[in-house]
Amino acid sequence: MTHSIHEALQRIGVADQPAAVAVGTKWQTGAGELLSGKSPIDGSTLATFNEATLGDVGLVVDTAQSAFLKWREVPAPRRGEFVRLLGEALREHKADLATIVSWEAGKITQEALGEVQEMIDICDFAVGLSRQLYGKTIASERPGHRLMEQWHPLGPIGVISAFNFPVAVWAWNAMLAFVCGDTVIWKPSEKTPLCAIACQQIVNQVAQNFPEAPDGLSNLIIGDATIGNALAEHHDVPLISATGSIPMGRAVATTVAKRLGRSLLELGGNNAMIVTESADLEMTVRSALFSAVGTCGQRCTSLRRLIVHESIADQLLTALKNAYQRLPIGNPLEPGTLVGPLVDQRALDTMQHALKTAKEQGGIVHFGHQIDETEYADGCYVHPAIVEMPGQTDIVQQETFAPILYVMRYRTLDEAIEMHNAVPQGLSSAIMTNDIRQAEQFLSPAGSDCGIANINVGPSGAEIGGAFGGEKETGGGRESGSDAWKAYMRRTTNTINYSTELPLAQGIKFDL
Ligand code: NAD
Repeated sequence: MTHSIHEALQRIGVADQPAAVAVGTKWQTGAGELLSGKSPIDGSTLATFNEATLGDVGLVVDTAQSAFLKWREVPAPRRGEFVRLLGEALREHKADLATIVSWEAGKITQEALGEVQEMIDICDFAVGLSRQLYGKTIASERPGHRLMEQWHPLGPIGVISAFNFPVAVWAWNAMLAFVCGDTVIWKPSEKTPLCAIACQQIVNQVAQNFPEAPDGLSNLIIGDATIGNALAEHHDVPLISATGSIPMGRAVATTVAKRLGRSLLELGGNNAMIVTESADLEMTVRSALFSAVGTCGQRCTSLRRLIVHESIADQLLTALKNAYQRLPIGNPLEPGTLVGPLVDQRALDTMQHALKTAKEQGGIVHFGHQIDETEYADGCYVHPAIVEMPGQTDIVQQETFAPILYVMRYRTLDEAIEMHNAVPQGLSSAIMTNDIRQAEQFLSPAGSDCGIANINVGPSGAEIGGAFGGEKETGGGRESGSDAWKAYMRRTTNTINYSTELPLAQGIKFDL
């Protein structure tokens, strides 16, 4: 794997002076504010360019709309073939894309490669799906009638994405949208523009060699929240799929609802693991560690709350503190590093503020300090924190997007589940237990209230085959596998009368 981002970009074919807008395969320089992309690894400037303007939003949406009128008529299995070729191109550029992800988002090499693998996996999933966009046939109550449903392409889909999964979230949305017959307009995080430019460049290359792909099938518009908001406001974008913080989701949902559009929201989590007295402690330490400190605590599914049975709490805490003590923290591109940097100074300040607040609310903080030795002075490196809390105080109920693991104790499983569900977010959850009754209770209607509930597996690191998303303030959206594709299509119910009579439903007589 190469470590030079510039060489990686070159191999993908990204121009030396990248542009902020791609209207289909045509790159256009933005005329907005100057954006300077900094690497969380060492603070170096990776790219400088002008952001898109509000005018660009209209142009891109019009182009995506015209392209949609053509793409929706291409048979779904052919659309699948386009995605299959995209998957091949992603395989070819896997190492280069991962290098760009590491430089821009600060992920360790293994996790960056894993993120690109997720893109490849969703391509494979979408190819199969392109021959399975089934509707149902329903028994009609009327003689000589048939009742059925069909799923049709929806339109241009707006994808707003977060910095921490700078390529996979787009792929989850775009690959399903492409096979469903939709076009895509991507507004990536302004913190990871080069990741987006590289992905768009790969799609452009595949699209240019695919005769049925209309120009405008895939579009990119880089800018801040203003651009995201303009996309959310646009009447010609029937679905906005938005991934990011809860305040962002609240703003986008309101804007989209005002024009009665659809939104698919993938927002913040506050994920917990219940550790029962029967848990395998060695497995618990390993899975809690990966879930809590992986991606430096910057995953939507990161483990943030550990709810431990009082009889094993001291033993588990000692083992966890030992593991935290030995964490290899540093440059994410170095082999052996397991914890890279936080994304920026703001994330570091937010973490330090949360630790101070936790102390004021009765917490005992272990680790959590900034690592600022010379070689790390220009990045935001921290030692992940463990905080023993007397209960779920205000700070524990918030998502702090940093590696802070709050540890609380419980006596009965009912009490643990109540504590587990007593936060506003509802993304991912886990229980570590060898007791089948406890496991089933956790998965039951009276158990975890999250979109993802796991047994003896941590809350982070989902597979693409399942539907991904969460409840409550996490937004209720589902992406990726299972039947998540239905969000990207419109359902029509069709009644066909093949008789010579005209019976009405519900037995209504309406004759003159
Ligand atoms: P963020 O909310 O700051 O930004 C996300 C995206 O929304 C960016 O592209 C940003 O420009 C845009 N945006 C912000 N305000 C907007 C507005 N008012 N209108 C339109 N667009 C707007 O989030 P972030 O810091 O990039 O990412 C971290 C957050 O994302 C965390 O809360 C994390 O849990 C969440 N996240 C959730 C999932 C999930 O699948 N549930 C996945 C990844 C990240």
